[in-house]
Amino acid sequence: MNIILLGAPGAGKGTQASKIQAHYNLLHISTGDIFRANIKGGTEIGKLAKSYIDAGKLVPDEVTCDIVKDRLNWDDAKDGYMLDGFPRNVFQATELDKFAEIDLCLNIDVDEALLMDRICGRRVCSCGESYHVSTLNGATTCAKCGKELYRRADDNPETVKTRLDTYKSQTAPLIDYYRAQGKLATVTSGEMSPDEVFGQIKKILDK
Ligand code: ADP
Ligand code: ZN
Repeated sequence: MNIILLGAPGAGKGTQASKIQAHYNLLHISTGDIFRANIKGGTEIGKLAKSYIDAGKLVPDEVTCDIVKDRLNWDDAKDGYMLDGFPRNVFQATELDKFAEIDLCLNIDVDEALLMDRICGRRVCSCGESYHVSTLNGATTCAKCGKELYRRADDNPETVKTRLDTYKSQTAPLIDYYRAQGKLATVTSGEMSPDEVFGQIKKILDK
């Protein structure tokens, strides 16, 4: 099964991806994670991506599509995967259709008013877990692996505003794109707890 996770920044794609990966043993491919690993490693791709990411803009399509195309060719992707953060505009979706067979696009719908607080209160771990300050009770380390939590450089109000605008103008049209292909499934209660949202996702995926 090859699926796409769609949703605004802060909709909970990463959180649900880690649950889906654990439950269905489905490979999680996040373009954001790939870019951040490149930034950390000081690669050419990382240097290029950083300026866009820090500004809340999309990294150029050509670079992004090449990375995904390459990643989907690895052996571990043969048994299925979920894409998180890709595609992010109609051009990327059209390119993806040339080199992949997508079965389903899971759209996580969340009340827009919640997104800013969710993202600005987010704390992440290098193991991939993420938390919200409101439920950490002052903890500064990851409950899963014990490492120190940190705030992503682009999780600040200014950049988040641009990311939300980018989502609305460029990514949201993908909802219609996948609906037209008959592949769209929408999770309508993205405001609920992560476990409740995952419950809805399981109902969709188990069908
Ligand atoms: P979020 O969904 O919370 O915004 P991501 O980790 O998915 O976070 O993405 C962080 C940033 O990485 C984006 O704002 C963008 O700059 C860049 N990025 C990730 N995926 C793509 C993509 N498919 N195309 C272009 N840029 C991307
Ligand atoms: Zn951790």
